[in-house]
Formats: sequence, C-alpha cells, structure tokens
Amino acid sequence: MRDRKSWNVPASTFAKNTFNPIRNIIENMQIVPHPDKPMIALSIGDPTVFGNLKPAPEIVEAVVEATRRGSCNGYVSSTGTEAARAAVAKYCSVEDKLELQAKDVVLCSGCSCALDMCITALCSPGQNLLVPRPGFPIYTTLAVGLGVQTKDYNLLPERSWEIDLEMLEASIDDQTAAIVVNNPSNPCGSVYTKEHLIAILEVAARNKVPIIADEIYDHFVFEGQEYHPIASLTEEVPVLSCGGLTKRFLVPGWRMGWITICDRGNVLDQEVRNGLQSLSQRIIGSNTLVQGALPTILANTPQSFFTDTLAQIQANAELSYSILREVPGLNPIMPQGAMYMMVGVDMTMFPGLKNDLELVERLISEESVFCLPGKCFDCPNYMRIVLTVPEPQLREACKRIITFCSRHHASAHVNGLAHANGHVNGCEAESLKNVEKAMVVEVKSGSE
Ligand SMILES: *Cc1c(COP(=O)(O)O)cnc(C)c1O
Repeated sequence: MRDRKSWNVPASTFAKNTFNPIRNIIENMQIVPHPDKPMIALSIGDPTVFGNLKPAPEIVEAVVEATRRGSCNGYVSSTGTEAARAAVAKYCSVEDKLELQAKDVVLCSGCSCALDMCITALCSPGQNLLVPRPGFPIYTTLAVGLGVQTKDYNLLPERSWEIDLEMLEASIDDQTAAIVVNNPSNPCGSVYTKEHLIAILEVAARNKVPIIADEIYDHFVFEGQEYHPIASLTEEVPVLSCGGLTKRFLVPGWRMGWITICDRGNVLDQEVRNGLQSLSQRIIGSNTLVQGALPTILANTPQSFFTDTLAQIQANAELSYSILREVPGLNPIMPQGAMYMMVGVDMTMFPGLKNDLELVERLISEESVFCLPGKCFDCPNYMRIVLTVPEPQLREACKRIITFCSRHHASAHVNGLAHANGHVNGCEAESLKNVEKAMVVEVKSGSE
C-alpha cells in the first residue's frame, strides 16, 4: 500500500524478474588478468571485436546507398516494408519445400527481439517453454520475465550434441507452449542432420507442440556439412523461425532480425499472426535504413564472402581442437558450424580447482585467457571458447591453456611441480584469492 505522502518508486515486477544469467555470473567473477600477459578474450560472442572478420563491401555499400537514397529515414509499417519482407521471404524459402511470402515475415530489432516476440506470442504466464541445455541463456531471460517457466532438455555431447529425444518428449506436459530448437547451436557449434531434425519434428507432431527455431546461424556450417531450416522438413508442425543478419553477415550492431511464420499445415490460430503484428507495434518496427538495404544485401552478397569467413572459423576450430584434444583433462567436442567450441574439463584431474567457474577464473588471473564457464549455459564441467579470434591469438591462447592445465593437473601435484609454482596448498590458494579480490577492488575504484 502506498500512502502518496512520501516517495516510493520501486522497479516493476517484470523488471525485477528479468535477468541474464551470463551477466550475473560474469559480473561476480574474479576477472583480473595476469599483469604481464595481454588478455585474450575467448569469451566474446561478437565476431567484429577482433577486426579480422569484416562484412563484405557489398553489405556496407548497400547501407550507404540506402542512406543516400533519402527515402529510408521515416517510419514504415511496424512489421517492415513490403520490399524488405519480400526479400527475407525469398532468402528463407527452400525450393519445393518451403514457400514463404512477405506476409509471413516480421522484421525485428535483431534476433533476440524476434525470439522475444515469438515467446511472448506463444507462451502465457504459467505455461512452460522447453529449451536446450547447454543453451543460449536468453530464452530463459525472456521467458522468466513473462512468468513462463523454462524446462531444460539435454543435448548429448557423445552424440555431437544431438537432442536427448526421450527427455524432450518426457518434458512435454499440458502446459508446454513451445519447444525452442537452436540449430546450428550456440554454445555447441553442432549442426543437426536432416534425420535428427525430422526426429525432433516427430516429437513435436506427436504432441502437437509448435517449434520456435533459433536459426541465427543459418548456413553457418563447415565444409561438408549441410544446413536444413527445420521448417523445410515438415508439412505439419508450425515453426516460427528466428534469424537475422547478425552472425552470418557479421553486423551484430545493425540490429536486423526477423521471424518467418512457417505453417504449411495451417494450424496456427490467426491470433498468433495478429499477435506478432501487435507485438511489433511495441517498438514501432526495426531500423528502416537497414530495411532499405536488405533486398540488396540478401541478393548481392557474394558467396565468396561466406566461404572465406567460414574457412577462417573452421581452420580455427581444427587448430584449437587438435591442440586441446592432447591436453590431459580436457575433452574438446569438435563443432560442425557456428563460431564456438565446447571443451569438456575433467575436474577430477584438477584437484586444486573446485569447478569450471574457478578454473576459468584462475585461467584469467594466471594466463590472461578468458573462456566462458559451462555454468553460463547450465552445463558444468565445460568451458566455451569462441573461434572468431585471429589465428595467432588463438594459438597463443591454446599454448597458455596447456601451461595452465599442466600446472594444475593431478600429476603435477604428485611430483611437486604445482607446489613449486605455489598453487597446490589450500592456504596459498586462498591467500592468492584474497590478493585477486583486493586487486579487483583496486581496479574498480581506480577506473571510476
Ligand atoms: C547471437 C545470438 C542471438 C542474438 O542475435 P541478435 O541478432 O544480436 O539479437 C540469438 N540466438 C543465438 C543462439 C545467438 O548466438
């Protein structure tokens, strides 16, 4: 109860219920790099930060041209211009399998906004949404704010991160509003075969659950792999597919994403389409300059740009896989696409370290290499590395990871090596931690 005589301005329940688990973990981490070693961040899922991967000139030119044209400065329909939506419909259609039209496309402010709209359009408070583990934490961030519960289904590392289909099916109940399928995957870098996608669709069809497909890494697959949009493999299951320019075109800051409504069985209530349209009015549509450039970008970006980008990432994947695979206690899982690799850590081999979180913290303080702990993806005993780093830096990072692992490995403790380095004794470890804490405080107050 408020008396209106004194100020009382709390945050809303929605704001308080909205949080990003990665941010929470990172902000509470001891992130003070070793003073003598330049930091190598294998943690940032933004391909533009290192300067080695740039959008093709055709992509940049298209926006320059749209800016000069002068006709892309105003408001347009909140779902996007007809021309831009038609271009996305064409780009996402699959010959003979999936025919999309402009009316099936909603443009959004990045793929996260697309996911937000799909989850909001399909899930009511009290219902649940099935999400992958390990998975991108934004699904939970978006759902929990809405009062929608997420239920994890496991991905199986020994099967190249395919979905545990039995667990998926067992997780479906009366309140399940949708299944999120992320392919290719962040953080796993897995790319599903047609057969596996069909098996997922069979679970959805048997239980009459729609799919929200996070396909932001569409076509982002290594040589010899094939990408299939999940909607192209079903005539029955309704799929809201979320995509965008962000990753494949290397322009995350342009905030151009989209939803394609794929409903060949015509089972979605008309209210879902209306709902997406209404939700798009909350932000009055996406950036019109990029919309103006979209038809040109999607039609004219040369294939060689995609091939070159992927060749670099694949080479990095092979390099880091071949190195880390030889490190006792580490078990990298070779990706088939996207821009990440998960590395299993056998914590029993590192008796001085409590868990994956402490391992990545110590990797920062001792070697200035920053990997994301599996904890960020609800997947303990793993760490995620990004593969968009320039090759020399990746090589150096791997070298430091080797040094770190041999220093902390159980066998090093036995022969006294770790002790010589001052890392075996619990007291010493504790005092080192205190020094780090003091340094964090120093750095923080120093930068303000
Ligand atoms: C990067 C990413 C997104 C978000 O993309 P934006 O277009 O920047 O909003 C969504 N899903 C996954 C799996 C991602 O890795």
